[in-house]
Amino acid sequence: MGSIMGRREKPHALCIPYPAQGHVNPMLKLSKLLHFKGFHITFVNTEFNHNRLLRSRGPNSLDGTDGFSFETIPDGLPPSDQDATQNIPDLCDSISKNFVGPFRDLLFRLNNDSSDAPPVTHIVSDGVMTVTLQVAEEFKIPEILLWTASACGFMAFRHFRQLVERGITPFKDISWFSNGHLDMPIDWIPGMKNIRLRHLPSFLRTTDRDDTMLNYSGEQTQRAFKASAIIINTFDDLESGVLDAIKSMFPHVYTIGPLSLLTPQIAGDHLDSMGSSLWKEQHGCLEWLNQKEPGSVVYVNFGSITVMTDIQLIEFAWGLANSKQTFLWIIRPDIVMGDAAILPPEFFRETKERSMIASWCPQEKVLSHPAIGGFLTHAGWNSILESVCGGVPMLCWPFFAEQTTNSHYAYAEWGVGMEIDDDVKREEVEKLIWELMEGERGKVMKGKALEWKMKAEKAVGQQGSSYLNMEKIVKQMLHGK
Ligand code: UDP
Repeated sequence: MGSIMGRREKPHALCIPYPAQGHVNPMLKLSKLLHFKGFHITFVNTEFNHNRLLRSRGPNSLDGTDGFSFETIPDGLPPSDQDATQNIPDLCDSISKNFVGPFRDLLFRLNNDSSDAPPVTHIVSDGVMTVTLQVAEEFKIPEILLWTASACGFMAFRHFRQLVERGITPFKDISWFSNGHLDMPIDWIPGMKNIRLRHLPSFLRTTDRDDTMLNYSGEQTQRAFKASAIIINTFDDLESGVLDAIKSMFPHVYTIGPLSLLTPQIAGDHLDSMGSSLWKEQHGCLEWLNQKEPGSVVYVNFGSITVMTDIQLIEFAWGLANSKQTFLWIIRPDIVMGDAAILPPEFFRETKERSMIASWCPQEKVLSHPAIGGFLTHAGWNSILESVCGGVPMLCWPFFAEQTTNSHYAYAEWGVGMEIDDDVKREEVEKLIWELMEGERGKVMKGKALEWKMKAEKAVGQQGSSYLNMEKIVKQMLHGK
């Protein structure tokens, strides 16, 4: 977008995602929007992820464009397998201990740079990278947080402290995992109705008071209200109850989701070629889908972090095979804990006429493809939103974090999801996949999913809540109001 401002007077947003796929994607979308609105952007990746992006997207893919550049910071972890998902607790621990120093140095360098980049005027940091708040304060630069998960997830994490104070977590011993403790109703979190302990984020299921994730996720949401605003990748209709409750605690909340619709709605194909996939997308998935009937394919993808045992992988495989449905299954090379994902030859023989297996795909495009009829998912927030945008009902097998909460809402509040037991069995997979694709329940969920798709489209339309909130936050960033 052309600007009448001189380069040095341009606003400059320093954008820092948490270094994982489900965070880099929405942060890049928001950064493109801000760039379109006239901001100079510096996007900060960890060195590990930067190298992965270069490998998956090609050596020139991050060359940047006028007024959009990339910087890197070490993640402080020892070198690891270059294409594997990093260990999330280790990453969080390292961010807490090692991020502030290099981040401060980067800010200092950018603001004393002799180049013609304008000085940093705003920090836009991930909602789980609140270590950056301390540096923002030192430099007297306003910081806005992007919460990339659900609002219900935010509220649940925000109450981890009370769960500890009430003696609900950490669990006294391992018997609490199976003695009905997880069925305890939790009726005191504002805006969250009909919740049981098992629906709250998995990180509270620990017997260790010093558990990294219990503490890290709780602290992030406690610190969040120190930011000048919180942007959430959700939309008002979807989470109105919990959003009202958050706003009554902290008024500067802006819902701007789903970003996968809002970014093209506002910015068109601006910077479209700048992608953020950490894995190389396997070609052919969309072409394969083009040959399939509308609504006839089950899409299976457990996101970028989920791992499972080889036994669970086999149970999913035979459940899919026995359901007799056509499926596209994305099996990340590192999806099986500590081992390669190996499926038996009989499974391939049985399903080769009606399946495609790939290692990574352009998921947003897949979920909006007319051939997709259902989604077997780990209920990561981006996946849920992308499924809503495609009008696709879900079968959820939540892995960790607030995915348990998302999955519960998809089932109980939004009517677009069913849930599979943690202890996955082929018979249950078969039955539920069939129900999703052919059963009465599947039809009802499909209807609901289409309703939510329309509401999502309305939210990003010109008079929609997300569209207007984006205008407001940009105005606030530019003019302080
Ligand atoms: N994704 C993708 N291709 C794949 C798998 C995932 O593009 O084969 C993208 C997906 O579209 C989503 C993100 O990776 O934007 C995963 O985020 P999510 O919150 O769903 O789950 P996470 O990976 O953080 O557990």
